[in-house]
Amino acid sequence: MSLLNAAAPEVGDLFRQLDIELLWHPSLSNDSPAAHDALLEAILAGDVALDILVVEGTIVRGPANTGMFDTRRGRPKKDLAAALARQANHVVAAGTCAAFGGIGTNDTLQGCGLQFTGKTPGGLLGAEFRSRSGGPVINLAGCPCHEQAMTGTLSALAGGQALALDEFNRPLDWYGMTVHQGCTRNEYHEYRVEETDFAQRGCLFFFKGCHGPLADGPCNKVLWNGRSSKPRAGVPCFGCTDPDFPQSFPFFVTRDIEGVPISLPKGVSRAHYMVYKGMAAAAAPNRLKQRETKI
Ligand code: SF4
Ligand code: SF4
Repeated sequence: MSLLNAAAPEVGDLFRQLDIELLWHPSLSNDSPAAHDALLEAILAGDVALDILVVEGTIVRGPANTGMFDTRRGRPKKDLAAALARQANHVVAAGTCAAFGGIGTNDTLQGCGLQFTGKTPGGLLGAEFRSRSGGPVINLAGCPCHEQAMTGTLSALAGGQALALDEFNRPLDWYGMTVHQGCTRNEYHEYRVEETDFAQRGCLFFFKGCHGPLADGPCNKVLWNGRSSKPRAGVPCFGCTDPDFPQSFPFFVTRDIEGVPISLPKGVSRAHYMVYKGMAAAAAPNRLKQRETKI
């Protein structure tokens, strides 16, 4: 649904402009089951080239590593995904579940990502896997992944451009920044003018569990649907691009010790944070304390 919301260009125009032939997509294709079967067989036999394989959803390995909780025509989908990945020039994981396992990483589903399980390399294909072009799985993390991360990645791959990746194989063009960057509440954050409720004007880090300063993603620089983002709309970022998403503790609450958040903004030392934030709150201008500055 995120991809289908792409507007500049729309997904159909994008494929035409890039000369991408869409072989199959769960919402866009209306092939008969027999035609779908034949296509898969042709790809696996090497009769149809598979330039870019995009996989969405956790890779289910349960029960007991058989994958039989998630099958197609009686065969585990995990085996089909692995076989297709071996045929593909490029492999892309769409969303945090396909990249890192996401909500499927529990004892029942035994879910994993294509090449990671959480932060641990491996996953379905193994840490050493390389697609036919020589690259690892490109992880477009997010729940869902941002449509511009997907359209931009497809454009780069179709155009033969290399993508620089971070340690979790997420393209730096979209994951080389934090969600905090570009948030309209930054000035409130700097002076620790914080909210205890949703949809107010202040920052959501100190009480409402906003992950903006910790999460890697473009959400406040490349706005969703060209309009807004969760923090801009007054909803804390819950860090859906993180390899360990979803967290095991409640959303929308900042865990703290003696009033200091357990998870501090990326790269900030605890000692510096405590000194700086106390001073910043004391120096906060009245226009921010009164919530007069529009966001
Ligand atoms: S609401 Fe979140 S993203 Fe926005 S300034 Fe505060 S911590 Fe950063
Ligand atoms: S704002 Fe945070 S939770 Fe929302 S999509 Fe971006 S990274 Fe995910």
